[in-house]
Amino acid sequence: MNAVRIQVVLRSGVHNSIRAFGTTSVTNDIHRCKVLVVGGGAGGCSVAAKLSSKLGQGKVIILEPSERHYYQPMFTLIGGGIKSLEDSFRPMSKVLPALAKWLKDSAAKFEPEKNTVLTANGDKIEYEFLLVAMGLQLNYDKIPGLVDALAIPKGKVCSNYSPKYVNRTFEALKAFRTGNAIFTFPNSPVKCPGAPQKILYIAEHYMRKSKKRQNANMVYNTSLPVLFGVKHYADALWKVVEGRNIKVNLRTTLVEVYPERNQALFQNLDKPEETFTTDYEFLHVTPPMSAPDVLKSCEPLVTETGFVDVNKDTLQHVRFENVFAIGDCSASPNSKTAASVAAQSQVVYKNMVSVMNGHKPTRVFDGYASCPLVTGYNSCILAEFDYNLNPLETFPVDQSKERYSMFLMKKDVMPPLYWHLLLNGLWNGPGLARKLMHFKL
Ligand SMILES: Cc1cc2nc3c(=O)[nH]c(=O)nc-3n(C[C@H](O)[C@H](O)[C@H](O)COP(=O)(O)OP(=O)(O)OC[C@H]3O[C@@H](n4cnc5c(N)ncnc54)[C@H](O)[C@@H]3O)c2cc1C
Repeated sequence: MNAVRIQVVLRSGVHNSIRAFGTTSVTNDIHRCKVLVVGGGAGGCSVAAKLSSKLGQGKVIILEPSERHYYQPMFTLIGGGIKSLEDSFRPMSKVLPALAKWLKDSAAKFEPEKNTVLTANGDKIEYEFLLVAMGLQLNYDKIPGLVDALAIPKGKVCSNYSPKYVNRTFEALKAFRTGNAIFTFPNSPVKCPGAPQKILYIAEHYMRKSKKRQNANMVYNTSLPVLFGVKHYADALWKVVEGRNIKVNLRTTLVEVYPERNQALFQNLDKPEETFTTDYEFLHVTPPMSAPDVLKSCEPLVTETGFVDVNKDTLQHVRFENVFAIGDCSASPNSKTAASVAAQSQVVYKNMVSVMNGHKPTRVFDGYASCPLVTGYNSCILAEFDYNLNPLETFPVDQSKERYSMFLMKKDVMPPLYWHLLLNGLWNGPGLARKLMHFKL
């Protein structure tokens, strides 16, 4: 069949490529931009804000399919009944920078050799520079029985990790009467590696407050060989679990859920032949996660595990000089947190501008990550550390101690910091505050 292609250049800079096949016609748009940002989450939004105010109107396109932007760190508090789901999101249109153009569509194929991205709706975007900021993919379907269990109304299985399920957690806590309350950490990279145990501590405190603690056998089954990756905080957390009679099983992963009989199958990762089935009255699941499938399928762009293959210092792609990554989808070996995104945002922005001006990228990311380890309804250990898992603390106090002040910071200070400063490209992490507080200026 003969295809006739007519190119029409529209005022907006969109090129409409109309293909007429016999009687039917398909219209695909071609968009051109200086910078394409794929993903309008924490990382995409903050760097797009910086870049679009530098480059001006319409130079940056943000490719993002969601109507809502969620402040995901709040999910932990929603699970504990401290905040509501409505507190945790804003319309995407309100948080993306006004100077950038929002394309409400998703990336379907990356073609880094051609500097193009194809979208799910069949559009093509041609870019000079690309920032990949797609976050992590939640793989609930990798655990047989889990999706069915999460579909049971007022069920015993819950998960803080998705806005679809987060409201179930507090409901299940309220409904708890007696039995095993089990919390899991999967055998995969996760966003905010502290979050699977934050809800454990909040739940344990909830059980005490509601006089149900004596009926609850609290268990934390984690795939990791340690309670937390940074020894300074792990030592403090071991005291918390021992003091509160919480059973921790290391190297133990969830394999299957049997919702019809309220049981779950676990495996010992060091001795895979060793499995055990346990009853649950409450089961909080942190799902397995991975790089998004669309990234994994673009080999030149990613590492073996599917994360964007960037230099861990500059966050520039190791092969494509005009490609950068930020946040959870990057292969940089930091803990995947919004706090890291803040610290990365200025490094990515400055390095992208350097490369645009024909220079080498010189800004270096130190691997900063922060995890406010909420240990109940009025206490929190504020973990902050670098690539080498050395503490990198902002405040001149021992942050491994449980403190009410840190809980208030997590609950009341961090959300406005995120909405008003980080997303507008005005918060680059606490590096400067840290220097000031430690008199290093
Ligand atoms: C329960 C929980 C607790 C957490 N607690 C904390 C905490 O206390 N402190 C902390 O610092 N961090 C915490 N985090 C982690 C933090 O939320 C993430 O690290 C952060 O949001 C990562 O930002 P990002 O931009 O990489 O990804 P996201 O913010 O997840 O954004 C990714 C964006 O990409 C979009 N996208 C996906 N696929 C496509 C596609 N094909 N095309 C286009 N766009 C696409 C998505 O719609 C999304 O908007 C927590 C997360 C959770 C879930």
